[in-house]
Amino acid sequence: MPPAGRVALDTPVGYLKGVGPIRAEAFRKLGITKAGDLLFHIPHRYEDASSITPIASVEVGMDATVVGKVISKGVLPTRKGLRIFQAVVQDPSGMVEAAWPGQPFLDRSIDKGDVLLLSGPVRFYHGRQLAPREYVNLGPDDPGASPGRVFSVYPATEGLTFRTIRSIIDAHLDQLLAKTTDHLPRAVSKQLGLPALPDALRMVHRPASVRDAEQGRDRLAFDELMFMQLLHRRAHSLARTARRGIRFVNRRELTSKLKSELPFELTGAQVRVLREIFADMCGDRRMHRLLQGDVGSGKTIVALFAALLAYENGYQAAIMAPTELLAEQHYRTLSRLLAPLGIEPLLLTGSVKTKVRTPLEARLKTEEPVIAIGTHALVQGTTAFGRLGFVAIDEQHRFGVEQRAALAKKGQAPDVLLLSATPIPRSLALTVYGDLDVSTLDERPPGRRPVATVLRRERGRGKVLSFVRSQVEEGRQAYVVYPVIEESEKTDLKAATTMYEQLSAGAFSGLHVALLHGRIPSDQRESVMRQFRDGEIAILVATTVIEVGIDVANATVMLIEHPERFGLSQLHQLRGRVGRGAESSYCILLGDAGEESMQRLELFASTDDGFEIARADLRIRGMGDLFGQQQSGEALLRIADLVRDEKLNELARQAAEETLAADPGLEKPQNAGLKRALSARFPRALELFRVG
Ligand code: ADP
Ligand code: MG
Repeated sequence: MPPAGRVALDTPVGYLKGVGPIRAEAFRKLGITKAGDLLFHIPHRYEDASSITPIASVEVGMDATVVGKVISKGVLPTRKGLRIFQAVVQDPSGMVEAAWPGQPFLDRSIDKGDVLLLSGPVRFYHGRQLAPREYVNLGPDDPGASPGRVFSVYPATEGLTFRTIRSIIDAHLDQLLAKTTDHLPRAVSKQLGLPALPDALRMVHRPASVRDAEQGRDRLAFDELMFMQLLHRRAHSLARTARRGIRFVNRRELTSKLKSELPFELTGAQVRVLREIFADMCGDRRMHRLLQGDVGSGKTIVALFAALLAYENGYQAAIMAPTELLAEQHYRTLSRLLAPLGIEPLLLTGSVKTKVRTPLEARLKTEEPVIAIGTHALVQGTTAFGRLGFVAIDEQHRFGVEQRAALAKKGQAPDVLLLSATPIPRSLALTVYGDLDVSTLDERPPGRRPVATVLRRERGRGKVLSFVRSQVEEGRQAYVVYPVIEESEKTDLKAATTMYEQLSAGAFSGLHVALLHGRIPSDQRESVMRQFRDGEIAILVATTVIEVGIDVANATVMLIEHPERFGLSQLHQLRGRVGRGAESSYCILLGDAGEESMQRLELFASTDDGFEIARADLRIRGMGDLFGQQQSGEALLRIADLVRDEKLNELARQAAEETLAADPGLEKPQNAGLKRALSARFPRALELFRVG
């Protein structure tokens, strides 16, 4: 063990004074193994004197933050069997009661004499009562609790309270900072008005004011964003040179024929993205492009043109969908469009019988050009392509990374087009999708009727259900969507299973109602969807399994219960399931959501623009929701937030671009620090910057 006072950045955190093996393990859970990591474990929140209300001035109806000492506490049972932890806290101005329903266990971690920082709404219950949304136990006699200082609140974990973390960081901060050097060329940070790294770290951990802390945080966020941009840009440029692909020739034979045979004109946006795609395909590089566009923006046709380009060059093309039903749907649409050209696509899904399948597979193995449509069955097992030149993957987020990789291995070096129905702003797309090129369909074909979207309260339930019934009686079909499959004790959410029973016996009795959710085996699920498509089922009670691209023109009602439980983009996808035919369509959001949720839902009801909706979603719910942690790049980002830090991200992008333009391999001495920091943070990053 190093003697006290000789702490280095790479000293294992378990060797630090005040940290034993048990705490070291807890630190590990927070991603902290070395002393230097502590510097980057930054407070997720600050409270300063200005945001704290003297207890005497706390009023019913306000959202208050208070600091006070616990003078009494206890657990109370209620009539409903819920147990409530209550504490009375006091500051020099007065006292107030705080109550945590359903959290009796807090009695063990909060002691009389502890100083608590509480924030949450204040309501009236035998007097003023604060319902903490958040609380921080500052412990007994915490010096941080003295008024006038900024409280740093750290992310904590089991076995390691925020307070312990703070005192450990505080005890070692000066030593660690003394060993920290700035990896960013000073010219860069100066130009951007960002503090030097050691200053930023001090500002973040021991801020004189909240503004101070924010400035420090921005510098750290900038670093992360710049690291990420450097990695992406470098990976992208290496891939560009390494990725040699097929060089197609734009013969304008079948593609022109298709264009003249189409029953409609391509939109301006479709023409533009096709130009981008064709340029890729006719170049040396292998295409790796994302096509994003709102529901109904006409992505399928674009994919078909690209497939035809490969086909007329003598290559095979594959179009892959995440479900059998969607594959069948594409198959039908594309067969119809290709008929005048004398081309018959083939369909390969899991449920294609061996007798049919074997000759299909044999055909794929030859070098004969073909347009194959299917599910992941296209890439599984024995299926192999003799001359695969192009692949489109619809609803790409539904496919696992492995499936995409498997497909990539199936051909020599096919050009790849990924389709996504969750459009996001371009600057963000470039970041999220890393090394992909991005094309955007920002225009919808004319003539689609907007879906009337309305919010209805619980008290209007009867009316809503009889409206759905009347639509069905007129021959239309409807979806009714729930956030969960089964009811549970933890929530009082209505669930698909129970509501299916209730609705089929009640409001929808006598109508053909069916149930669909993710726990129903997939072959049964497909068969229910087929029956719905063929009009044999009138009302589908479902979870979000119906979200993906399915097209039933006769469905005119999308009724969504507990709409506040869904992301706006998800609601938008659901809404996209109706409004596909000639009849007027409706999206009804039913439930008594809270004030904040209502605002969100009203925004959704007021616009049909997928970009605007995705943006709002990002602002409110963050990236993880839209893309899953893996894809969102969040794994790279601990401090920065792609939505909140959009401006910083833009600065970081410029800085990364300029840096790499002048020094692509980060080999110049002024970038040595940057390279070192980058590889310390991302061990695999160095591979990208190896000479060669
Ligand atoms: P998505 O982008 O949601 O996958 P689709 O490709 O399924 O959209 O297209 C939605 C509908 O719009 C389809 O019925 C398609 O035939 C039609 N469509 C596509 N492009 C156009 C266009 N330029 N003009 C008119 N209708 C179009
Ligand atoms: Mg689609």
